[in-house]
Amino acid sequence: MLDALFVSDVHLSAERPEMVDAFLAFIDGEARAARALYILGDLFDEWLGDDDRRAPHPRVGDALAELSAAGVTLAVAHGNHDFLLGEGFAARTGCRLLGEPEAILLGGQRALLLHGDSLCTRDLDYQAWRRKVRDRPTQRAFLSLPLDQRAAHAATLRSSSRALTRLKAMDITDVTPAAVNALLRTHRATIMVHGHTHRPALHDIDLDGARATRMVLGDWYEQDSVGWWDGTALRLGRVADLVGAARRLEG
Ligand code: MN
Repeated sequence: MLDALFVSDVHLSAERPEMVDAFLAFIDGEARAARALYILGDLFDEWLGDDDRRAPHPRVGDALAELSAAGVTLAVAHGNHDFLLGEGFAARTGCRLLGEPEAILLGGQRALLLHGDSLCTRDLDYQAWRRKVRDRPTQRAFLSLPLDQRAAHAATLRSSSRALTRLKAMDITDVTPAAVNALLRTHRATIMVHGHTHRPALHDIDLDGARATRMVLGDWYEQDSVGWWDGTALRLGRVADLVGAARRLEG
């Protein structure tokens, strides 16, 4: 049994049915070997409100509800594609929506969980766009529109807006190391787990003379990237690695 399992940037979409199937197989399979599954943003490629029941959202909602009913603690962070996930989604799936950042304990150490886009502080255009779409009154006004109008609006943005074109993986600016260190200091944490940049890696950080670790989760375009806590350290791998990892803990 793994204490904590992490995924990010699954980007579920009807345009990539093979990855929807792969994710649902993971939820019905390997994810059950964890006490807790943390989904750190961009689970969905587009989420226009909790009444957005376009494919593949209902199937994914059912699978997540079954996972939490099976006893796996489920927690979901907002990404830059699905920041409109709300309490309706949480109630339907039995998940908890994470704050940003959310602090948890891993082996007695404080770990910060977040999507990671807020750490890309050098991309000023993106941060301006983020402030706008994260504004609650703006969100309420958008959510009050009928779904087809929201979808049309999002499609227009996708085709025309430079801000949204920049959300494509290869255009994403990397995180600012100083922003990472500042956040760790503020929360007195020594571990950070995030996604967003699609640059999976385990980074050792020298934080004012002490050792800290930052795990960046990869996406689910080609690599079904997962991270986990093995009881003493963070590990980064692919779904296929989880079976062996869980077995080693039993042994
Ligand atoms: Mn993202």
